[in-house]
Amino acid sequence: MDLNFLTIVEAHKGLLAKQFSAEDLVKACQAQIAKTEKLNTFITRTDDLALEQARKVDAKIAAGETIGMLEGIPAGIKDLFNTRGVRTTCASRILENFVPPYESTATRKLLEEGYVLMGKVNLDEFACGTTSEFSFIGPSLNPWNPEYTAGGSSGGSVAGVSAGQFYYSLGTDTGGSIRLPASWSGCVSLKVTYGRVSRFGVTAMASSLDTIGPMARSVEDIAVIMQVIAGHDPLDATTPDVPVPDYSADLKKGVQGLRIGVPKEYFGEGMDPEVNTLVRSAIKEYEKMGAVITEVSLPMTKYGVAIYYVLVPTELSTNLARMDGLRFGRQPEGEVKDLIDYYFKSRGQGFGTEIKRRIMVGTFVSSAGYADAYYKQALKARTLVCQEFENVFKEVDVLMAPVVPMTAFKVGENLNNPLALYMADILTLPANVAGIPSMSLPCGFTSKGMPVGLQIIGPHWSEPLLIQTGYAYEQAMGWKDMHPKF
Ligand code: GLN
Repeated sequence: MDLNFLTIVEAHKGLLAKQFSAEDLVKACQAQIAKTEKLNTFITRTDDLALEQARKVDAKIAAGETIGMLEGIPAGIKDLFNTRGVRTTCASRILENFVPPYESTATRKLLEEGYVLMGKVNLDEFACGTTSEFSFIGPSLNPWNPEYTAGGSSGGSVAGVSAGQFYYSLGTDTGGSIRLPASWSGCVSLKVTYGRVSRFGVTAMASSLDTIGPMARSVEDIAVIMQVIAGHDPLDATTPDVPVPDYSADLKKGVQGLRIGVPKEYFGEGMDPEVNTLVRSAIKEYEKMGAVITEVSLPMTKYGVAIYYVLVPTELSTNLARMDGLRFGRQPEGEVKDLIDYYFKSRGQGFGTEIKRRIMVGTFVSSAGYADAYYKQALKARTLVCQEFENVFKEVDVLMAPVVPMTAFKVGENLNNPLALYMADILTLPANVAGIPSMSLPCGFTSKGMPVGLQIIGPHWSEPLLIQTGYAYEQAMGWKDMHPKF
């Protein structure tokens, strides 16, 4: 049996039936990692820990104890989540030797479930980027064609899931970093409602937009992971005490009568015609299954990139102030004259180009004399985006659109063109600006064999509906069973 491309649910069943052990799963992952090493998935591997965790689960199974759905299932975790005793770098030189003394809430919940950690995986530095090329170890490559990037910022997460190196991953989505790479590398992913999953212990990028979510090989697996990680956390004041629903309960209810809105602004100029065709035929498929399709309009869409790229650098520059070589971060190399020189050198040597660019932009747009023109204006525009979504969800249940207007960028293609990278987020970041959930689901391949994703956006707390909607299409099509060849 090919263990590498099982879903979590299949692997769980196999463990229960004693078809294979948790140790077998880890060894299969390790073999696949060795075979596909060039994808550059991992920043830190935890092979010994993984084997130790797997053996504990095997002992439980042998003793006839019950096991949870994620127990014994190998995962890769974006290297932005603090993992106690395991190096956590945020893909930045400034944290290259940071070993956290505490665990993030999300990974603590996984630990309590008995998960298996294969290692910490690649991302753009502090999750700022679209291709994972801003990582201090370079980009993760696309499993479908390594001339292309896996996408970003959660590049290691999707490369690993799609290539069979582990079964799922947790990432962060501030402007698309879970959904965009999932779309480019052919995985399922969910960006949750702001506040649904605790961000405690995950290095903040832009605190008013950051969300945590899963990437996996099937919609059902997404439901399984959500069941474990969702919920109020006293350590994160932005997680309200909204009851956690049963995410698998409505899985098979279908989409009969579902009202789907297709925002015309999401199919604008510059879109790859093949992406357009594939996404539109996925929406047609929903119509065949009984959904009702209407075109809707979200005119604020064109301001999304501008709003986001004022708010995010502002919040980022504040959040990264603690990386000063004293409170956090490495000490500077070479002679230091005084305290200011110390800061210049620790930050100058520690941060990469994109982070420096954003700190400068963020400091500028929020500084006295400019805050009214930029930062405060962006906040006002943000309110309009929220209202626009609220209004459209009075008419439709979900929205469907592409995740990204184009397929994966070639390695290096836009490395020196930040605007092109920012523009790729145009369809993902509105959901972050409004704090609403959104799923990315494989919906086919281009003539060059590159994956394309369908985006399904819903109102606040509609994750169960997104899961139900995604599942219907996934079952009707065969995309889930396509895997890259090595
Ligand atoms: N591409 C976006 C950015 O660079 C996404 C970031 C994210 O979601 N973490 O800001």
